[in-house]
Amino acid sequence: MRPEILYPLFKPVDSLKGVGPRLKPALERLAGPHVVDLLWHLPSGAVDRRHQCPVNQAHHGLLCTLTVRVLQHLKPPTRSRPYRVLCEDQSGPSGGSLVLTFFHAHADYLGKTLPEGELRVVSGTIEDYNGELQMTHPEHIVRVADIATVLTLEPTYPLTYTVSQKVLTKAIRKALDQTTALAEWHDPALLGKHGWQTWFESLHRAHHPDDLTDLEAQAPARQRLAYDELLANQLALRLVRRALRRSKGLAIRGDGRLRARAMDSLAFTLTGSQTTALGEIIADMESDLRMLRLLQGDVGSGKTVVAFLAMLAAVEAGSQAVLMAPTEILARQHLATIAPLAAAAGLNVAILTGREKGKTRAAILEDLKSGHTHIAIGTHALFQDGVAFADLRMAVIDEQHRFGVHQRLELAAKGAQVDILVMTATPIPRTLMLTAYGDMDGSRLVEKPAGRRPIDTRVLPSSKLSEIAAGVRRKVKAGARVYWVCPLVEDNETLDLAAAEERFKDLSQMFGARVGLVHGRMKGQDKDAVMADFKSGAIDILVATTVIEVGVDVPEATVMVIEHAERFGLAQLHQLRGRVGRGDQASTCLLVYLAPLSKMAQKRLKIMRETEDGFVIAEEDLKLRGAGELLGTRQSGLPELRLADLALHQDLLATATADAKLVLQTDPDLHSPRGQALRCLLYLFERDAAIKLLRSG
Ligand code: ADP
Ligand code: MG
Repeated sequence: MRPEILYPLFKPVDSLKGVGPRLKPALERLAGPHVVDLLWHLPSGAVDRRHQCPVNQAHHGLLCTLTVRVLQHLKPPTRSRPYRVLCEDQSGPSGGSLVLTFFHAHADYLGKTLPEGELRVVSGTIEDYNGELQMTHPEHIVRVADIATVLTLEPTYPLTYTVSQKVLTKAIRKALDQTTALAEWHDPALLGKHGWQTWFESLHRAHHPDDLTDLEAQAPARQRLAYDELLANQLALRLVRRALRRSKGLAIRGDGRLRARAMDSLAFTLTGSQTTALGEIIADMESDLRMLRLLQGDVGSGKTVVAFLAMLAAVEAGSQAVLMAPTEILARQHLATIAPLAAAAGLNVAILTGREKGKTRAAILEDLKSGHTHIAIGTHALFQDGVAFADLRMAVIDEQHRFGVHQRLELAAKGAQVDILVMTATPIPRTLMLTAYGDMDGSRLVEKPAGRRPIDTRVLPSSKLSEIAAGVRRKVKAGARVYWVCPLVEDNETLDLAAAEERFKDLSQMFGARVGLVHGRMKGQDKDAVMADFKSGAIDILVATTVIEVGVDVPEATVMVIEHAERFGLAQLHQLRGRVGRGDQASTCLLVYLAPLSKMAQKRLKIMRETEDGFVIAEEDLKLRGAGELLGTRQSGLPELRLADLALHQDLLATATADAKLVLQTDPDLHSPRGQALRCLLYLFERDAAIKLLRSG
């Protein structure tokens, strides 16, 4: 149970005074659903209001705080004219005069906040209007006694257009009011070494900077908060890992007979990395610890074969294995690859996705339950209630970036002692590997299968589109097959689709009937039909939205055109490009951009032109975009880091990893006083699932 002291922080944001039903959804989108999410929303800058000066020293463009006497309210003759309030101070021989200007003013309100004859402190930007000093809509108007509340470094927060700075700041202030000091979860020596204050003090300092340096990632308060988050993350991953390991696996020991048969039927020999990875996987399976391994390999590096051979080992040992893919297209593609190999080895393979229904589905379920099916391939449908296996001991999850720690736990619960192999084609930088998959062992496929040729990547402006089309026509005449990707226009499926459909029309006109279109809104069967046509060569050009991003395998395709390449992230471009260059033919990738290019986009496209190494690209992506974006949104299922920046806090991550390890060695179930405080930390960062893995107390 979450400790009571944290209750106020986990109330919904609209429990805060001043946050109503209108503001609630905006804050939820910006920060998150709970009060605590507002605490994690740190300022990105600050406005310095500490500059005080007499009116006669103020000048155009200066942000300053002035103490003035209110002389007279000048109500406008019409609503379209501004309301003016004349003020002065004693700075000139006849006083320095300042005019406060308000548009669409409420006279009552101004009468109350700026009573004639009284002194007020105003803060805002000075304008020179025909020789007259003005301040339009001062950001602060207070009594002289309250001047200290204005003379500050006022934090500014990252915003969306639905929330104003003022409103957000107020909400965050209210959230901060809900905080109390918490028992210290860090080692005092660590705090001393870095000069860190308590969580409470650090949080308040981060939101009330004393100095501009307080806003930097390396400021002590920010470091401390980042470290809190990293430690919670590392502890949670270790707990998950330990729980999975504790639940003893079964030693799965095959005799190699099926693997030998399958290897014989392969048209190639395994690469060195494939052999090594397979060895690591088999060793995990043969041990009586449970396997939780991540197989990383660039697109086309041959992960599927490795996974298949590992599944065969499970079947040799008399059990079943499943391969789960994120989409139906991919599941069917895996089936197509695996079915002939499985047939050669004399095995029964079944597919189960959302599309199998009624009697077909019932029959498939029956075969899984009876053990008739050796290998099942499918989507999430494989792990729905009602699906039972005779003896499932091995699960392969392909393209795992959509499966987070929670899903891994869920999956692990399905088969009591299932060994899990997760495959990803997204090369993950080392630091991310630690924060997102610290609970897993890793194998990497670092070389491409023999015979692959480098991809010729070019960067071209969209003004050359007609030449590009002419080039594509020449290639098609020579027998090439072409992907033509139309990207996200603006987070809007309908618009994306319109763009792709238009391009499809253009290209169809140019090339006749040999153009196909595939997009995310199509029904599964229709998608498959188009993909099959492309694979068989019935169509030459496949216009696609990013649905082809993940995994699609058509080795005959040698040209990739990506429109609006500047809108994609590096990882995505890399994935897309990986669709070509899969056979032994020379391939080309044309990255078409809409000028002008931002500096960042230029850098990204340059990296794409310079390297095909997914791990290099991933590291660069991390540097350019930061981990938050790389990991994607909450939906990715990956732990989202709100306070730590992996590009900037790498050394803290290393410390947190070691710290977490030590903590669990000395206090495995977090019973000591520090352990109790660490439990609170885990709750604070919503790693509740990990706490469930502790023995109670
Ligand atoms: P990915 O890692 O992207 O899943 P795949 O497993 O789909 O890659 O392999 C891509 C292609 O390379 C497939 O057609 C596969 O048969 C082939 N392949 C795999 N391993 C080798 C190898 N060692 N030598 C040659 N071709 C291979
Ligand atoms: Mg694959």
